[in-house]
Amino acid sequence: MSAYLDHAATTPVCPQAAQAAFQVMTEEFGNPSAQYAPGREAAGRLRERRAAVAAALGCAPEELYFTSCGTEGDNWSIRAAVQHGRRVGRHIITTAIEHSAVLETCKALAAQGYEVTYLKPDRRGHVSIADLEAALRPDTVLVSMMLVNNELGTLQPVRQAGELLRRTGSAALLHTDAVQAFLKVPFTPAQLGVDLLTVSGHKIGAPKGVGAQYIRAGLKLSPLLYGGGQENALRSGTEATAQIAALAAACQAWQADFPQRMAQIRDYALTALSSVPGLEIVSPGDAPHICAISLPGYPSEMLVRELSDRGVWVSSGSACHKGRPSHVFAALGLPKRTLMGVLRVSFAPSTTPGEIDALRESLVEITKSRIAMR
Ligand code: PLP
Repeated sequence: MSAYLDHAATTPVCPQAAQAAFQVMTEEFGNPSAQYAPGREAAGRLRERRAAVAAALGCAPEELYFTSCGTEGDNWSIRAAVQHGRRVGRHIITTAIEHSAVLETCKALAAQGYEVTYLKPDRRGHVSIADLEAALRPDTVLVSMMLVNNELGTLQPVRQAGELLRRTGSAALLHTDAVQAFLKVPFTPAQLGVDLLTVSGHKIGAPKGVGAQYIRAGLKLSPLLYGGGQENALRSGTEATAQIAALAAACQAWQADFPQRMAQIRDYALTALSSVPGLEIVSPGDAPHICAISLPGYPSEMLVRELSDRGVWVSSGSACHKGRPSHVFAALGLPKRTLMGVLRVSFAPSTTPGEIDALRESLVEITKSRIAMR
């Protein structure tokens, strides 16, 4: 039996999404900008699909822009926010545990003279509002704080960050990368008090290559792409109608009890895996679908390979390669042996106890057949 336990990396496309995409590709293939009937029909469908995704996100359709992925939304948000604040200053605050789509964009801006403050997490993977308050300056133009960390499953205090910015009268815009939070934890952009929010389709049963970007009504931002004026002239380019249809269908197919189902299987996993000799829980996950574990003394890369040979697929963390631990786990200040043996395990609503048992049994086998490094 195989066990796919890396749903935070990507999810299989749900049948409703695949069918919706197929129908658009083969039948509703008109260009939404065309003035004749198939074009007008495509434009109408696009409006319906924007409304469906906006409803799932809890915002107005006019606040929702289709993108190609979460990386695009993160890049756009950060670059447009610093452009927006150009008369205020050149200071950005983010966290040390963001996805590389945020960190690398900040790094590129730092090379252009922006100053970036990275909030450090505590041992359990949470950044603090007190640290944010201490870092905030009159010239801060952007706070970018993810909602759910992709390797730890920890929730970050985005709502409190919004409250802080309002209370202090800060001119900084607030962006959240909600790629791992969308449909997994309850929120709306308005509840969080964010100006910008990024999500991605392939984490929720839509195909890769489609995402959505929330821009608060009334916020005037610079376009990401110039051209034919699509997406309210902020992101030109003929709309990816098939992917967008799939994203809307995936949102509609998502059921209200999915988070609860994932939380149940996560709790089952945490209990089952605790019986593996030597195993440590690095993060039990605040979000229902991600947790992190470690087998100190067993390098993650080896574990991933050995598990894969047994048909069990988990991740060693998004940036862990060539013996280097991911920046997220490194930021926790874990002991070296724990750090080197970290694995991320992530779930779908369809994940079964049998898949968890396969992971547990394989880990037990590996610890029996290989001697831990000191
Ligand atoms: N942000 C987070 C937190 C993610 O987990 C990911 C994907 O793993 C991304 C951004 C990038 O999204 P995409 O793969 O759609 O570019």
